[in-house]
Amino acid sequence: GREEVSSPKRTKEIIARHGFSFKKSLGQNFLIDRNILDKIVGAAELTKEDGALEIGPGIGALTERLADQAGAVTAVEIDRRLIPILEEVLAPHPHVKVRNDDVLKVDLKALFEEDFASVQGVSVVANLPYYVTTPILMKLLEEKLPLKNIVVMIQKEVAERMAASPGGKDYGSLSIAVQYYSEPELICTVPHTVFIPQPNVESAVIRLKVRETPPVEVQDEQHFFGVVQASFTQRRKTIANNLKARYFAKEGRERLEELLAEAGIEPSRRGETLSLEEFARLSDVLLAAGV
Ligand code: SAM
Repeated sequence: GREEVSSPKRTKEIIARHGFSFKKSLGQNFLIDRNILDKIVGAAELTKEDGALEIGPGIGALTERLADQAGAVTAVEIDRRLIPILEEVLAPHPHVKVRNDDVLKVDLKALFEEDFASVQGVSVVANLPYYVTTPILMKLLEEKLPLKNIVVMIQKEVAERMAASPGGKDYGSLSIAVQYYSEPELICTVPHTVFIPQPNVESAVIRLKVRETPPVEVQDEQHFFGVVQASFTQRRKTIANNLKARYFAKEGRERLEELLAEAGIEPSRRGETLSLEEFARLSDVLLAAGV
């Protein structure tokens, strides 16, 4: 049969024939390495009973792989210039739907109902545009969509922050947000050479196994994430100093220390040492005290 879209030769041929020029502002770095595609698709563990949502299909290198593995594929691409290319490349795969849209503006609940009614589970599989990695992932997680896995290529540094454990320099509010909704696992790091054009940052593939229920129970999720944010406002400050600035501007330090004691947290600790369980307890104690 035909060479894969990701082969450097075919990628260059498609780009040249359509007169396509890369837009840096859209994070356009296309994959030209079949081994990396194997790893991404393998980590997604798709079956024909599954749907796959791809964000940013580019010219379809990953999309054609997903078409082989999944029962239904939807690819959301913001760049109108890529739509005719995708229609051509994906013509042999009628169960692939391409949508010309900004994923941050799409009503994902409606998209799921429309495109994935006939499949059992849905996973997101993508080589993400790096300038919007965090907003895209937080949208996917916060909307509590019925997702199995999220397998994405992202900046290595962001992947490390998402998967970080308490105590290290990478651990922060992003780690906590991601780990509240999912179990992250680094799959592999990826060299610059597998893309055209090559990005300036290092990349990694990460899998987020989406949780059915959060690992900790909190009275109020919004309050919980507020406390987490506040605790990392100034990384080098203690938890007591960060919370004082945010919640105890008027009330005394004494009251704050009482509540920290009630939550079992030493005031001299830094946010980066607190586990998810400790943040959950702290949020509930503060909330019960009307803070
Ligand atoms: N999947 C292709 C591959 O691996 O070769 C392309 C990946 S490229 C890193 C990111 C893609 O996301 C580009 O095609 C870009 O146009 C698209 N994109 C950027 N911002 C987007 C957005 N907000 N919504 C949907 N697609 C977007």
